[in-house]
Amino acid sequence: MRILVTGGAGYIGSVIVKKLIENKHEVVVLDDLSKGHKAAVHPNATFVESGLKNLKDLDETFKQFNFNAVIHMAAYSLVGESVEKPGKYFRNNVIYGKSLLDAMLKNGCKKIVFSSSAAVFGEPKSVPIKENDPTIPTNPYGESKLMFENIMKWYSKAYGLEYTSLRYFNAAGCDEEYGEHHDPETHLIPIIIQVALGQRDYISIFGNDYPTDDGTCIRDYVHVSDLADAHILALRKNGIYNLGSNEGYSVKDIIEAAREITGHKIPAKESHRRPGDPAVLVADSSKIKKELGWNPQHDLKSIIKSAWLWHQKNPEGYKE
Ligand code: UDP
Repeated sequence: MRILVTGGAGYIGSVIVKKLIENKHEVVVLDDLSKGHKAAVHPNATFVESGLKNLKDLDETFKQFNFNAVIHMAAYSLVGESVEKPGKYFRNNVIYGKSLLDAMLKNGCKKIVFSSSAAVFGEPKSVPIKENDPTIPTNPYGESKLMFENIMKWYSKAYGLEYTSLRYFNAAGCDEEYGEHHDPETHLIPIIIQVALGQRDYISIFGNDYPTDDGTCIRDYVHVSDLADAHILALRKNGIYNLGSNEGYSVKDIIEAAREITGHKIPAKESHRRPGDPAVLVADSSKIKKELGWNPQHDLKSIIKSAWLWHQKNPEGYKE
């Protein structure tokens, strides 16, 4: 298939592009490099340096390549920032996302695989979370992902859009070549690794009074390569799927596991809660396993080991 990957120069996008190319798909990456890195674009992908707000570039790209499908990853994704700057998230993730759908339909492309998030659920009533559990986001990031899912639902009824929404839990770990490099870094595992590399003095634990066994937030960490596999499968079937590991780990569990793997003390300081964070997010991913045969390969140790390896090889991240 010929596939457009928006945000294909980003952390998860770069690994998806690599897998698509290994699976003999033809790939065009559209990315404005506001978050992504040129060095993360696979050499066999065609690279269009542009963003979804550039409607002319978008339309021309569709006309030039006649895509069979779109994998839509381009978005802002920081929970804390979204609480501070909701407008930024609704503009980029919803309004520009809608421009993408309009450009697709105008040019006869009907299939989209969308990067959604566990953040659509908000504070779950029960865990593990199933796809049809209530969606009441606790932050504008999750709200923007839910709004886009709803736009796809109505576009599907009105215009025959075919969509698969993949609700990622916590993407983590690295491919051998393609890793995680955000500037500034806000995510738990890469920050812990920066401490192990001596680039930071300690990790701050955001909140120690959540209703969990050790008081810190519990998340479900899923390896970026396993996430990427799910996208290849999702090209074949429409639907909404959770992508997680069915296992929850607290912030303190992650720090402890990283201490074991890196052999570094990793000093930690308890700090205040981060606005917008639900206490527990753990997926029930049985639907995608059953319907698409998704078969994740990595556990928490393998996730942290893979990240530790990539960051040791690339202590400054990508050079461009
Ligand atoms: N977290 C933390 N210290 C940090 C970064 C994150 O305690 O320096 C916590 C955060 O509050 C959340 C979990 O680690 O409970 C995972 O956060 P991350 O930003 O990695 O992913 P998110 O859950 O926001 O997608």
